[in-house]
Amino acid sequence: MSKYYCKYCGIEYSSVRNLTLGGCSKNPSGKYHVPYEGPIKSKYPCYYCGIEYSSLRNLTSGGCLKNPTSKNHIPYEGAEQSNYVCKYCGISYLSIRNLTSGGCSKNPQGKCHEPLR
Ligand SMILES: [Zn+2]
Ligand SMILES: [Zn+2]
Ligand SMILES: [Zn+2]
Repeated sequence: MSKYYCKYCGIEYSSVRNLTLGGCSKNPSGKYHVPYEGPIKSKYPCYYCGIEYSSLRNLTSGGCLKNPTSKNHIPYEGAEQSNYVCKYCGISYLSIRNLTSGGCSKNPQGKCHEPLR
């Protein structure tokens, strides 16, 4: 049976329908859970700071200093890559951790580079 996870809180449901009916306390732009669209991996890196956790639940429980829209880490939804490119300026780094450590002058919301999926 398939499992679907909320990208903001990591809660697990067996259908997207049920997932999106549930209220989410961590969604910064809405009231409901939002499905995580990335691949199932052994480690989930944070989109904004690159820290890695073994589950979406643990990742989204942690406070993120670099997330401009909410307080918690949010999963990076792309596949694992050998090079991560900033979607705003095109600079590339070997890890999300390194990429998001650098300041980006072209990021409209945050201050650091953000990975392209
Ligand atoms: Zn949620
Ligand atoms: Zn983070
Ligand atoms: Zn950048």
